[in-house]
Amino acid sequence: MEMPIEVMPERTGHITLKSDCGEAALPRCEQATVPGVISQRACALYGARWMLAAVKDVIHLVHGPVGCAYNAGTVRRKSYSIATTCLEERDIIFGGREKLRRTITEAVHLHPEAEGVLVYVTCAAGLIGEDVEAICREASSTLGRPVAPVLCPGFCGVGQGDGHDAAAEALLEHFIDRGEPGPVLENSVNILGEFDVQGDLKEIEKLLAHLGLNIVCAVSGRATVENMSRARRAALNIVHCRRTGQAMADVMEKRYGIPQMKVSFFGLEETARALKAVGRFFHRDGVERWVQDRVVAARRQAAPYLHRLAGKRVAVFFGASRMGSMAKAFRELGMELIMAGSQFGCREDYREAGRCLDEGTLLLDDANERELTEFLRRRRPHLLVGGTREKFLAHKLGVPFLVFPQETSPYAGFNGFVNLAREVAVLLDAPVWRLVRPGWESGPEQPVLPENVKVAVASRDGMYVDEHFGRAEKFLVFTLAGRKVKKIEVRAVKGGAVNCRDGAARGFPGEKLDLLEDCRAVVCLAAGHCARERAAEKGLLIMETSDAVPAALDDCIRMINGEGRTDGSTN
Ligand code: SF4
Repeated sequence: MEMPIEVMPERTGHITLKSDCGEAALPRCEQATVPGVISQRACALYGARWMLAAVKDVIHLVHGPVGCAYNAGTVRRKSYSIATTCLEERDIIFGGREKLRRTITEAVHLHPEAEGVLVYVTCAAGLIGEDVEAICREASSTLGRPVAPVLCPGFCGVGQGDGHDAAAEALLEHFIDRGEPGPVLENSVNILGEFDVQGDLKEIEKLLAHLGLNIVCAVSGRATVENMSRARRAALNIVHCRRTGQAMADVMEKRYGIPQMKVSFFGLEETARALKAVGRFFHRDGVERWVQDRVVAARRQAAPYLHRLAGKRVAVFFGASRMGSMAKAFRELGMELIMAGSQFGCREDYREAGRCLDEGTLLLDDANERELTEFLRRRRPHLLVGGTREKFLAHKLGVPFLVFPQETSPYAGFNGFVNLAREVAVLLDAPVWRLVRPGWESGPEQPVLPENVKVAVASRDGMYVDEHFGRAEKFLVFTLAGRKVKKIEVRAVKGGAVNCRDGAARGFPGEKLDLLEDCRAVVCLAAGHCARERAAEKGLLIMETSDAVPAALDDCIRMINGEGRTDGSTN
């Protein structure tokens, strides 16, 4: 299969199309970014912060210039309080050892409640060859608490993934390994690579609680010095994110004999599979049935949103190992996946993602902005899902964007799937996308609205068409000029809701039709036979839909123009 675009020779192999060539069709990955190319990757320091930011009850100290501390302060859109040695030119020339010693001591005096200190090594400290490990050892014995170096200077490795490894090593050596050995804690699990974004961990915890399981330690969504010291006694390590949890799970299996299981709680199928596998491990009965019921219930809850998403094209570009499970989740929403890419995914991540992609889907490793722009223009997704760095690119191109890890509600578990469906539907229906069209869509493709046409919409909340014609107590009347809404007025119905059967005596539908006599069309959830007949006599079109108001207006104009609706129907 041919490449869709020409790429720089150095990038050959990083961009592939899914085909049946197996391993050969996977993109080249885990390699340094081409010098001079501005990719979407972050440095190892940021990778370490990504993994450790949520560790409670420790001081996070960045040993480096203040700019690094600024970079490390905000993780997953949340601002964390951090300390820094604020290395300056003088320190870089004469060394920053003393400054680091003083800063550790001062930070502990200011926060005596802190159970430990994490010292992040930056490029500047790494380049001058500071022996941070020795200083941390010394400080640890003086202050009587773990002071752990995180060896993550930005230049080490090829991207933030190497910072995850440095972070995992710091936790293992200085916190988990310090715990006392003891008997295995019954019905207990650790979750490695779970950051409790917007309550994801609580969703997972509720599901595991149904199986009678307790979480000893979640790294790092719920990691404390105390629970990390007990983590070595858990019965099972659940690896939720491969890139941040796998290395720890491997070491813990080797050192403490804790078995591991790689699962995902994103999407219905993956959540179901995860719970069944964990249930089997702990010999629980009835899990299959319970899981099946939950899947059915979640599908039912998500159903109102799914018809809006069916067939919409989605492109995903984020971290690493969630690429595959999220790709599946979007497919379960009925969306067509046209691109799956990652900043620092490994071969196994692409292999896993490839399994749930169709032939011809683009696989993209460590994309730069130019490539992303080109692919978005050519593949024309209805939605791009990515990290915060891709957000502004998408918006500039007029493409709806969903940030992941998410910023609103949990996406993990069965409830998370429903949240995902709802939020994607609302995002795609947002009125702004009627005004800001993707750069590749030209004007003539849009319905042309006649001048000063009035359309009445039966909507209670102003967002969706959600009211029956007869039951409507008010209508929003839009005066349209070209593609713009010139005026919106609310027209209240005298006497409130009525229906064809008992409404004749109260002037139904005559009074309602009189109220809307200057309108060309009425958009409502449904309308009775008599209302339709009388409306037709008066030359008023009735269109039934449950769409968002802007989409419904577009469809209605198509109908007025005799073009048929976007779903192919004519009423
Ligand atoms: S790349 Fe180096 S200098 Fe830049 S933020 Fe990361 S650690 Fe600091």
